[in-house]
Amino acid sequence: MTEPIRVTVWNEFRHEKKSEAVKKIYPDGIHAVIAAGLRELLGKQVTVQTATLDEPEHGLTDEVLANTDVLTWWGHCAHRDVADSVVDKVAARVLEGMGLIVLHSGHYAKVFKKLMGTGCHLYWREAAERERIWTIAQGHPITEGLEKDYFELEHTEMYGEPFDIPQPDELVFISWFEGGDVFRSGCVFRRGAGRIFYFRPGHETFPIYYDANVRRIIANATRYVAPVANAYPYRKNSPNRKEPLSPIASRHKVDESLHRT
Ligand code: ZN
Repeated sequence: MTEPIRVTVWNEFRHEKKSEAVKKIYPDGIHAVIAAGLRELLGKQVTVQTATLDEPEHGLTDEVLANTDVLTWWGHCAHRDVADSVVDKVAARVLEGMGLIVLHSGHYAKVFKKLMGTGCHLYWREAAERERIWTIAQGHPITEGLEKDYFELEHTEMYGEPFDIPQPDELVFISWFEGGDVFRSGCVFRRGAGRIFYFRPGHETFPIYYDANVRRIIANATRYVAPVANAYPYRKNSPNRKEPLSPIASRHKVDESLHRT
């Protein structure tokens, strides 16, 4: 039997404390609803814990990170409050193979921008408009269980292109919005040994994380970005393989004084 995927659902958890409208939709926090969805859909395939910004070390201690296979990230108004030391540790874990699912306004999270290397800017509009999310990667594991070409969310915040990200390694979903904009809503990136899935829906004043398709996609993505058991490990150094594996005929002289030690 394969080991369960150890998931940590991280949430900034500030809107839910300050805004009555958000509290009404997510009384125990967005993280509680995302965690419940994962437990419901994946059962014994996962163990799920949550962590939030205002916990010591944002709930992401070395021990928590070492024991996390997949981290999901929701943040919005307090990206700047996330300590750089924690960001660096999360990014390092991704390179080692930890999966990362970045949700909605997490596009501006420090850790996402660090791993993308771009500004991650986009257009946005809060007009409670309809979003149609199209599946474009047929047969992709993240689309498992989706029955139609697209699904719709009645009221969403719009995110529009251009989205300032590197070209995704896999583009799984694109969104069309009632107001005419389009957006790359489901993107997979590989960094080091890790996989990152950016998934757009999830504005805090709409009950997006109760939606069956959204829950299904986050569950599928959790399995997809989870580390591959017994995969070739991530190499963190650059050893000098001075002795060639097979004889080299070239007589070119190498100036070894230029090599770093
Ligand atoms: Zn939003």
